[in-house]
Amino acid sequence: MKSPIFDYLVRYGYKKVVLCQNGDVGLRAIVAIHSTDLGPATGGLRMWTYDSEADAIMDALRLARGMTYKYAAAGVNLGGGKAVIIGDPKAQKTEGLLRAMGRFIQSLHGEYQTGEDVGITLEDLEVIHAECDYVVTLPEHAGGVGPIGPATAVGVQEAMKACCEEVFGSPSLRSRRVTLQGLGAVGWPALEGLVKEGAKVVVTDIDRAKVDRARRELGVRAVAPAEIYGQPCDIFAPYALGGILNDRTIPQLRCKVVCGSANNQLAEERHGDLLQKRGILYAPDYIANAGGTILDTDRLLKGGFHRDRAMRNVARIGDRMREVIALAKRERIPTYRAADRLAEERLQMTRALRMI
Ligand code: NAD
Repeated sequence: MKSPIFDYLVRYGYKKVVLCQNGDVGLRAIVAIHSTDLGPATGGLRMWTYDSEADAIMDALRLARGMTYKYAAAGVNLGGGKAVIIGDPKAQKTEGLLRAMGRFIQSLHGEYQTGEDVGITLEDLEVIHAECDYVVTLPEHAGGVGPIGPATAVGVQEAMKACCEEVFGSPSLRSRRVTLQGLGAVGWPALEGLVKEGAKVVVTDIDRAKVDRARRELGVRAVAPAEIYGQPCDIFAPYALGGILNDRTIPQLRCKVVCGSANNQLAEERHGDLLQKRGILYAPDYIANAGGTILDTDRLLKGGFHRDRAMRNVARIGDRMREVIALAKRERIPTYRAADRLAEERLQMTRALRMI
């Protein structure tokens, strides 16, 4: 019997996958729990129209495993999980559907904790919170930290400085030429931060209004979305979609560093090898973009939310990036593999502690 999903679960050591359905409200959802070694499995809830059930399950699985590594590498004591609702967030999202999802998450008694992701807003999470105690990402008035994009941007900038130190001999971003893709919740504050540091930024976005605003308010140059990859620059900074480092784009790159917030930047792992061969230093996405999640989950630490502590931990992303670079050089491996090793070492350590 062919069992691609079970084989995948075994290969990457998943703990469990839960399918949730409620025909009355049209809910079809998946909760993927990759690991609870470091703590409760935590990760956002996504609502998306998938081509097939298998695509939805695989998306939840891939993202859940990514969260395990992100938390482990960031020093956050949480496990990796992710949930996915199959459906169009613009047309099919109802209060009933969100509350039903909340009840399913509640029924896992905290083994999985949820948050924001594509297609799910802070307001939606407030609705889910009515049925479920295990919601991490919430607006401030509901006990959360509010928007996390700016903290993500701060963390990426720290990783960028570590990369510059390695490649150009100085962490300074002054006069560095940066091409920035995507002016959204993270890309916009990232652009503000880069301009403040004196970087020369070229931007792009598929949303004309955002590009016009960047030109008007921050005086930056803009290019069409397809032209961003070929711009001569020091740093290519992706803040939009995943999969943008691929066979088509990598040969176009004219940069020395790739560092941005986008999740799953490498279309496939081998593209990390390809970047290394081209002499481009790649900041592994989950190392660089952990800032928001560090801020968001700070309130789960002892003593409750402490913004200064959270932002100090966000700033440590620079050190984490330096560790990744050092390990990659020492072991002669690409940076994405070095990042996985650091995360795996921390997971291994906690497994050892459980034996006591
Ligand atoms: P967002 O939706 O607010 O912004 C994305 C921006 O990219 C939008 O302005 C969109 O118009 C633009 N865009 C989409 N396709 C594009 C293309 N082909 N070319 C140019 N621009 C394009 O999303 P966000 O919250 O800013 O997140 C950006 C990326 O960072 C995502 O990959 C996300 O998964 C990742 N990320 C975000 C956070 C966070 O704190 N929000 C944390 C970690 C990782």
